[in-house]
Amino acid sequence: MRKINFSAGPSTLPLEVLKEANENLLDYKGLGFSIMEFSHRSSVFEEIHFDAMKMAKELYNLDDNYEVLFLHGGASLQFAMIPMNLYLGGVCEYANTGIWTQKAINEARILGVNLKIVASSKEENFSYIPKINFSDNADYAYICSNNTIYGTQYKEYPKTKSPLIVDASSDFFSKKVDFSNIALFYGGTQKNAGISGLSCVFIRKDMLERSKNKILPSMLKYSIHSEYNSLFNTPCNFAIYIFNLEMQWLLKQGGLDVVYEKNLEKANLLYKAIDESEGFYKGYAQNKDRSLMNVSFNIKDENLLPIFLKEAEQNDLLGLKGHKLLGGIRASIYNAITLEQVKTLCDFMKEFAKKYN
Ligand SMILES: *Cc1c(COP(=O)(O)O)cnc(C)c1O
Repeated sequence: MRKINFSAGPSTLPLEVLKEANENLLDYKGLGFSIMEFSHRSSVFEEIHFDAMKMAKELYNLDDNYEVLFLHGGASLQFAMIPMNLYLGGVCEYANTGIWTQKAINEARILGVNLKIVASSKEENFSYIPKINFSDNADYAYICSNNTIYGTQYKEYPKTKSPLIVDASSDFFSKKVDFSNIALFYGGTQKNAGISGLSCVFIRKDMLERSKNKILPSMLKYSIHSEYNSLFNTPCNFAIYIFNLEMQWLLKQGGLDVVYEKNLEKANLLYKAIDESEGFYKGYAQNKDRSLMNVSFNIKDENLLPIFLKEAEQNDLLGLKGHKLLGGIRASIYNAITLEQVKTLCDFMKEFAKKYN
């Protein structure tokens, strides 16, 4: 029996996606072997690859001004590839909202980038999204749209005329996005769009021009991956296949507006269970910045935490342990988590509070 998995990533995949992959695992559509065994130069794989790109763009409603790249190294390699390819010798501006922006800042520093941290919520251990004023002439302005550990999320991206870069790893494909000042939008796919190892990068054409002029190893150069349609070397073929199935699943749901409504309903239900517990549970993020994807909270009596986790597990509710930086509890309720599953968690939380209050 499948248990309910609230893990932050790798995380729950839609059951339909797993079933489809399972049915085709040994013999892809009757062609005689697994998709993992197909050449990446074959028309069978190419169709999966290019359809996946097309559906990803369709979901975000993007025109030919943007390209989709499938890259290796998860989201973390982008922390370095972004400055390598897009730094022009001016200033790169960062908003520091948690560990993932800190890591991005570190990589840029290693590369000797002239960077400025224009806003930070570090003094409150990243429990909110600070007010951000990017300048209009930075080489780029960098944010992380959803902070996976602390459970904070931008409701709106900051306005700037500088090219905006967004790490959307943990709220990828969870809602419509206004791309009007976005130059690069990316995520590792293992949280909300598939499995680990693959990153999907939406890049605006003018950024590819910047990349072209850089002297970089080929594998680290956006313009090379673009020129070869992300088939410069052997791609993560199975991860791209799963990503393709995820895109199909999202389109079948009715697209990102429908997906967003469901995510909103799920998150509202869970935050309500926290807020109506009369202080038994306490949310971590400030209310205005609460994430619809990662809900981090605590129990008023710390000693109850291991008991909560143990009893949750006995009830087939897994992956609820908070990140080690924060402790407490975290429920990641990405696209593939259903409303029913969130209801099950809320019921468990209410029972637990009644029992131990
Ligand atoms: C998980 C995560 C990453 C890192 O992803 P990897 O694929 O492990 O490199 C980066 N940014 C955010 C916001 C994340 O949640």
